[in-house]
Amino acid sequence: MNIFVVGIGLIGGSFVKDVKAKMPTAKVYGIDTNEAHLEEALSLGLIDTKATYADLSLADFVLVSVPVDALQRELPKILDAVPDDCVVCDAGSTKQQICEVLQAHPKRRNFLACHPIAGTEFSGPSAAVLGLYRGKTNIICEIEKTAFALQERALELFGLLGMRIRYMNPVAHDRHIAYVSHLSHISSFMLGKTVIDKERNERDIFDMAGSGFESTVRLAKSSPAMWAPIFEQNRDNVVETLEEYIQNLTAFKELLVREDYEGIYREMDKTNRIKDILKGLPEAKKMAQDTSKQ
Ligand code: NAP
Repeated sequence: MNIFVVGIGLIGGSFVKDVKAKMPTAKVYGIDTNEAHLEEALSLGLIDTKATYADLSLADFVLVSVPVDALQRELPKILDAVPDDCVVCDAGSTKQQICEVLQAHPKRRNFLACHPIAGTEFSGPSAAVLGLYRGKTNIICEIEKTAFALQERALELFGLLGMRIRYMNPVAHDRHIAYVSHLSHISSFMLGKTVIDKERNERDIFDMAGSGFESTVRLAKSSPAMWAPIFEQNRDNVVETLEEYIQNLTAFKELLVREDYEGIYREMDKTNRIKDILKGLPEAKKMAQDTSKQ
């Protein structure tokens, strides 16, 4: 099978690491606007050869893993260039605008809208991780708009990588993901900013920072080039989640100002049920295993 990855960074690189492990005969072609990333992907053995859109006529499967603003520009051109029996999947963290841009494309049936719920705060081919997708959920939108045989090819490949599939419409995807992913990133970025602004002497931050601080600001290391277009595309949902979050922060501050320590206790106690909610998630199970090994 000829597999093309457009955007050979964390998501695309991790995908082909698994593909190469599971399908040694697959030939992997890499396309990227960043020449240094292409060279790195070649030297890391993530791709077999560099390619251009002119080579897409050879493709059986294409993963497009570029930032979401670039997805809107590039996906129509990629669909124009692939043969009729090729499936093109994206990995974008937003879905509504991308699905709208492609809805009238003559090759809409070649496109499968995907969002793998897997990743780290790092970018580029050197951040690629073997097994990143194992046990993780891949959200697929508007599956009925993809040709049946091409759905099957993509689902077979995702199954080989150990992914679980969840179907959702693009509007619901963007609304839900605003809470569990986009808000977490803003919260982490703004916590990092608050501490940096207050504590100009970085040495003190490092001396006093415990694992709680480090894990809470982990997402603030994420790439602005990837996240700014996500917030732009999901602006309305993100604004709504931020309003609710700010209300909760203000209410917590009010409890402290009023010295209502019982109220503070009750708020935290109620929120502790997050432990039970998260227990079933693959990421939580992995963390529990890692912690028990330490
Ligand atoms: P990444 O590590 O930065 O890789 C993206 C690669 O695409 C980079 O090499 C980038 O080059 C290149 N690129 C940018 N514009 C391009 C274009 N027009 N044509 C070809 N290549 C282009 O990013 P990533 O973390 O893999 O994210 C890729 C996609 O996956 C995004 O849509 C994101 O929303 C989605 N996603 C990410 C995560 C996560 O945790 N990271 C999780 C799920 C989904 P430059 O570095 O020079 O820009």
